[in-house]
Amino acid sequence: MKDIHDECGVFGIHGHPDAATIGYLGLHALQHRGQESAGIATSDGQDVRLYKQMGLVADVFNADVLKTLTGTSAIGHVRYSTAGSSTLLNAQPMKCMYAGGSIALAHNGNLTNFATLRHQLLARGHLFQSSSDSEILLQLVAAHYAPTLSDRVAAMMTQARGAYSLVILTADQMLAVRDPHGFRPLVLGRLDGAPVVASESTSLNLIGATYEREIEPGEIFIAGPGGETSSRPITSPRLARCVFEQIYFSRPDSIVFGKQVNTLRTEFGRQLAREQPVPNADVIIPVPDSGTPAAIGYAEQLNKPFAMGLIRSHYVGRTFIEPEQRIRHFGVKLKLAPVPEVLKDRVVVVVDDSIVRGTTSQKIVDMVRSRGAREVHMRISSPPTRWPCFYGIDTPSRKELIAARLGSLDEIAGELTADSVGYLSVEGMHRVVSGGGGDGYCDACFTGSYPVPVEDQYSPHSGPDDNR
Ligand code: AMP
Repeated sequence: MKDIHDECGVFGIHGHPDAATIGYLGLHALQHRGQESAGIATSDGQDVRLYKQMGLVADVFNADVLKTLTGTSAIGHVRYSTAGSSTLLNAQPMKCMYAGGSIALAHNGNLTNFATLRHQLLARGHLFQSSSDSEILLQLVAAHYAPTLSDRVAAMMTQARGAYSLVILTADQMLAVRDPHGFRPLVLGRLDGAPVVASESTSLNLIGATYEREIEPGEIFIAGPGGETSSRPITSPRLARCVFEQIYFSRPDSIVFGKQVNTLRTEFGRQLAREQPVPNADVIIPVPDSGTPAAIGYAEQLNKPFAMGLIRSHYVGRTFIEPEQRIRHFGVKLKLAPVPEVLKDRVVVVVDDSIVRGTTSQKIVDMVRSRGAREVHMRISSPPTRWPCFYGIDTPSRKELIAARLGSLDEIAGELTADSVGYLSVEGMHRVVSGGGGDGYCDACFTGSYPVPVEDQYSPHSGPDDNR
């Protein structure tokens, strides 16, 4: 089994005449959470229909496809996974038949005991069509004998460990479920009286729905013929909301875990400037788009000019085939172009949200220096990424993480060929996010402190014993 580490977005709506079209729009706003496949399942009170394909939301769906997705309820999913498992079989929503009829499920997150559960289910004769841990959740729901779907889901929640924000659809019900730690976001809104759930509130904004609240950690929210119900069968042992959602993954216009992401990112930049100033800086430039709010905050705090020294092309797909060898660094050149007049003869501070392997940063430093910058200083609006995520953010193994490989800031600056490198401190990050010590958040990628034990490790980039 390989490649179950997914970054994803989910959406759901119940009791609206334009469910499929609204699902399509809702997924559009979540496209940043996954670009490899997209799918929508709808239900009309009788049955569940499903359409999913590899590709972007706009390419997967068209008017003819949406017409076939009849019904007044819909759930949808966008998925990104690493190369090997990029197959339609792993695309979501996943659908099957269970004792109660058709059921479809879409999942954001990663289970930490997926291999154990899968082996148990296989031993009991379950058949799997995919290598995705989302199918395990679907099978667990289907396999439990309980009087109601809510009871089945509650039973599944006692077995599944790790991160899951889910939407589930049956012929007449839509459910939204969040793991008791609340790793991944999931919000509830309303459109023309119909309940809407989405990974991020930007999705609600696009369709014109109003934001109501988060689906709570450990909550099962159900919308069905009998109205709406909510239960919390599992109390939260420890809240572990993913701080990397706020640093990088979510869109700045979203409210995530009750906070406006743009505000937090700007404040990360301000805090970074307090901790890691470059007093002789001439200009602060972001690595667009993800570094932009932090760069604005950094520049404001130091009272230095902010400028767009790098322009991002928004038309670079993940499937672009890089010409071998002939043009070095082609990948980053396709995505980012330098603006020489901003850079020439200047002391430049480049602000990005994170460094993972360091390959992008190194190419950016090169690019900025080759356009005449006198000094190039990298400033990162998160702490050094030293540990892989097992809860749904795609990170490589420790040996590929530059901050885990190299001991000191000087060594990292050396490898990046930057004049200096500075990161936000863990304390500074928590001060911005929660005004304190990080209670209620997962910061394992920075600290190695994993809130849920990782029982079954698997790396999307290498084998099971790659010494993560
Ligand atoms: P690198 O250091 O070359 O591995 O890449 C760092 C860049 O990747 C930064 O600009 C980040 O914004 C971005 N990044 C960080 N985490 C992720 C992730 N999980 N998926 C995709 N891009 C990411």
